[in-house]
Amino acid sequence: MNAVHEFVPPAVNVEEKLFQNRYRVDAGRPHIKVNNPALCLTCALKPCTVCCPAGCWRAEEGGGIDLVVDGCLECGTCRLVCDAGNVDWNYPRGGFGVLFKFG
Ligand code: SF4
Ligand code: SF4
Repeated sequence: MNAVHEFVPPAVNVEEKLFQNRYRVDAGRPHIKVNNPALCLTCALKPCTVCCPAGCWRAEEGGGIDLVVDGCLECGTCRLVCDAGNVDWNYPRGGFGVLFKFG
């Protein structure tokens, strides 16, 4: 009788993987903005703060949102999870933004 082998997924350190990417900052021209910051104060779940794989969104103590797009992976998740449509999302200008590690 053949032994059943359980698949053990390899351990992945996400922070270590993210560190392999590089990001060109477009100073003073963030490619993602919050349309109406006051609306975030009334957003109970703040899904943008838990869905971003790069940790760009953080909930502030007063109920607001701190958004720093440096390191953004351009996945678009924050735009999709904001039911209020409060995320103004664009790709960075050419030459700026994330540089994924290849190979
Ligand atoms: S999900 Fe939208 S409305 Fe809610 S905190 Fe995030 S950006 Fe603001
Ligand atoms: S596009 Fe993706 S990585 Fe960039 S801020 Fe939104 S959720 Fe985070």
